[in-house]
Amino acid sequence: MSIQSIKNFTGSTTARLTASYLSIIMVMSLSFSAVSYNTSSHELGRQLPPQSLFDDDSSDPNYQQGNTYSPSPRVNAFIHDRIEEGRQVLLLRLLWVNLMVLVGGSILSYYLARRTLQPIEESMEAQSQFISDASHELRTPLTAIQTTNEVALRDKKMTIAGVRTVLEQNVEEVEKLKTLTDGLLKLAVQDSRGVHYDSRQAINLQDVVSEAMNRIMKSALAKNIAIEDTTQRIMVMVDQQTIVQAVLILLDNAVKYSPQDSTIYIQTSRKSKYAMLHVIDEGPGIRPYDLRKIFDRFYRADQSRSAQHVAGNGIGLALAKKIIDQHDGELSVTSAVGKGSTFTIKLPLQ
Ligand code: ADP
Repeated sequence: MSIQSIKNFTGSTTARLTASYLSIIMVMSLSFSAVSYNTSSHELGRQLPPQSLFDDDSSDPNYQQGNTYSPSPRVNAFIHDRIEEGRQVLLLRLLWVNLMVLVGGSILSYYLARRTLQPIEESMEAQSQFISDASHELRTPLTAIQTTNEVALRDKKMTIAGVRTVLEQNVEEVEKLKTLTDGLLKLAVQDSRGVHYDSRQAINLQDVVSEAMNRIMKSALAKNIAIEDTTQRIMVMVDQQTIVQAVLILLDNAVKYSPQDSTIYIQTSRKSKYAMLHVIDEGPGIRPYDLRKIFDRFYRADQSRSAQHVAGNGIGLALAKKIIDQHDGELSVTSAVGKGSTFTIKLPLQ
């Protein structure tokens, strides 16, 4: 769905919602006017003295049997005219009031309709952007596979070694596709399911870190990277598996972007009602411009320096941030180019 079609859709929905809100306001205003017109006009009618007042009245000391009074026809006509005039003035005022309610109500209804639809519009736009970014990312390895295979098919004299190379390239691209689709799937799950409060338990941060470290050890050893873990025993309220996933993303990045023979430090601290977990590396660092964007989906910083030679798809940090946000925590980063980066996870204490 394109941005234009989203705008068309929400445009017509805004009009429909505005009309619905306005009709509710007008029904209320007209009903109120009808009731107040009826009541007031009835009250006005009561200004006419009842006929009983002019009939025999034995309580009147000046009363004489057989006497009857009645206002002169002119007085009667005058009173009737005044009552009718009063009714017309009332009707006119109510019409004016309703006209003003119609104008004011239209503006208010439009404002309310926009406020109601804005978050929906934003989420539709984000979804549309996500689909187009994801399609673009999926196309890259698919195009690579297609080109390699087409070139290989045209080569009539291809050797077994050549075939092997093509197959190896294919497997590499398929591996990228698999990582990307796994990441997309996790993001989609996290988007739709979130983290339920009932799945949160009191978990020791040391257990989270050691589980994530076990999974990253092989890649760290391959680059002779040491991991210095000084995590303290701090209890946090989390969904263990998703938090392990977030810590793993930070450790995986630290290993991916750090040079051979460097050290990664994992440290913890407490700040008010929060636990802080720091993943510190001696990698290339991140430029201030990129720092603002690295949590965006599919963003890969500084292609020439860090990301070019490192496999990735730019969804790891977006996923980690989503997980931490859903735990009412915060994921932040500080970095110095050429020195390294510190990613900090802030989580509510137990
Ligand atoms: P990926 O690593 O798959 O590219 P991420 O979302 O995990 O995607 O990271 C986004 C970008 O942030 C990376 O492409 C990289 O440029 C930068 N980045 C992340 N972690 C680090 C780090 N520890 N050191 C330097 N750059 C990093």
